[in-house]
Amino acid sequence: MAQTAKNVFVASRLPKRAGVSGWVATLQPRTPRPALNGPVIADVAIIGGGFAGLSAARRLSRLDPAAKVAVLEAGVVGEGPAGANSGFIIDLPHEVSSDDFSGESEAKFRQSVFIQRSAIALAREMAAENGWGKEVFDPCGRYSVAISSEGDKHLEDYAAQLTKMGEDHRLLDVREIQAVTGSPAYTSGLFMPGTVIVQPAAYIRGVADCLKEPVALYERTPALSFERLGTGWLVKTPQGSVQAAKIIMANNGHAESFGFFRGRLLHVFTYASLTEAFDPSRLGGERKWAATPALPMGTTVRRITTGGGDRILVRSRYSYNPSIAVGDGAVRRAGHLHDGKFSKRFPRLGGVAMQYRWAGAMALTRNHVPAFGEIEHSVFSACGCNGLGASNSTAAGIAAAELALGHDSELGRIYARLAAPTVLPPQPFTTIGAKTHLAYREWRAGSE
Ligand SMILES: Cc1cc2nc3c(=O)[nH]c(=O)nc-3n(C[C@H](O)[C@H](O)[C@H](O)COP(=O)(O)OP(=O)(O)OC[C@H]3O[C@@H](n4cnc5c(N)ncnc54)[C@H](O)[C@@H]3O)c2cc1C
Repeated sequence: MAQTAKNVFVASRLPKRAGVSGWVATLQPRTPRPALNGPVIADVAIIGGGFAGLSAARRLSRLDPAAKVAVLEAGVVGEGPAGANSGFIIDLPHEVSSDDFSGESEAKFRQSVFIQRSAIALAREMAAENGWGKEVFDPCGRYSVAISSEGDKHLEDYAAQLTKMGEDHRLLDVREIQAVTGSPAYTSGLFMPGTVIVQPAAYIRGVADCLKEPVALYERTPALSFERLGTGWLVKTPQGSVQAAKIIMANNGHAESFGFFRGRLLHVFTYASLTEAFDPSRLGGERKWAATPALPMGTTVRRITTGGGDRILVRSRYSYNPSIAVGDGAVRRAGHLHDGKFSKRFPRLGGVAMQYRWAGAMALTRNHVPAFGEIEHSVFSACGCNGLGASNSTAAGIAAAELALGHDSELGRIYARLAAPTVLPPQPFTTIGAKTHLAYREWRAGSE
């Protein structure tokens, strides 16, 4: 990106798809909204149509129903990370401090839960308004599953901390978790009822498709640059432009492609595979469940039901890719790992192959805070998803919309207090550090 004296911000790169997401492939086709063609005028231009951007658009339209909003999505809604993830909209942090869990760490936990539940409240509101069925939005909770004695211990410790915090949960022994999953590999489980499980592509399409005039969504419309125009901004796209008083950047790691948060975002990819449909009688347990690993960086697994039978989703492996792109080779290599995880967990499903494999980008910060706030006059950022991006980015989108309109709320006050993302060490130290850290944490997660 180039930031000039005239305040012109140019995208140095645009998002690239990696692999084919099984979530989109197993849905009915949807006609994308048309690309922007020609000049339009809006109160707010939103760059990015994922959780953050679409949630920001929704919140803007609720706070000011007359506000003209233009959402620019580089690709097709549902095909980016927001539609390609594992579909957990999580309310509780994955990790809690291992100290005595009082004072600062308790306050941090409660703040994190407040942020995530604010996101879930918005998602619930949309699901109720639009009558989404459980195949799209299912407030069924999640399991955290262990596969080793270290995982068992982690779940017990986490359960003890949830008890202290007054959070509802239930520990499951080996027999109980196997009765849910049908997998002989799991040794214990922890059920937490507050997570919402979505079909991510269907959910994000649903959020997009319920945006109504005067909110306009333009798909296949990357923002290529924006520059100051009077007191506002002119955003340029391949075949059009948006003249807007304000901009919300909701393009996650690609905020850096415009030059923002340079050297503060860690671009990390994660990978998923979805099996072909199999006869449900081949696997015991429940027909639908969703499980995150006991140890962070382990393997997420879901069983879902689609038209032709049941399928298993496996999500595992992280890689650091500062160019915000991965090639087919990386998707293939992660796929081999997924095959091993799958056969270890489901020996009865021998011969069931993976049908779809894909990857998606996330943007982390060293101090785990979002890349949030007013980053230029009338340019607001809801980027840097960190972990739990489905809930964190939804909440950041809500908070950015509120900040842009000067609306006061508890969520907004929390975001206003958050620190800025800290600067990463210079290259090559960031690359070496990030790769070593990911490798160490994946090793720590072991078979989990
Ligand atoms: C395989 C996988 C599994 C995951 N599982 C989970 C999970 O279960 N739960 C969870 O909480 N998180 C999960 N995540 C992470 C989660 O998907 C992300 O954190 C989340 O999508 C971030 O949302 P976002 O709106 O901030 O960014 P994104 O979803 O990345 O949306 C940003 C959008 O901006 C668009 N864009 C970029 N540049 C431009 C531009 N110049 N002009 C216009 N548009 C642009 C992109 O096309 C993209 O659609 C997973 C991720 C992956 C890849």
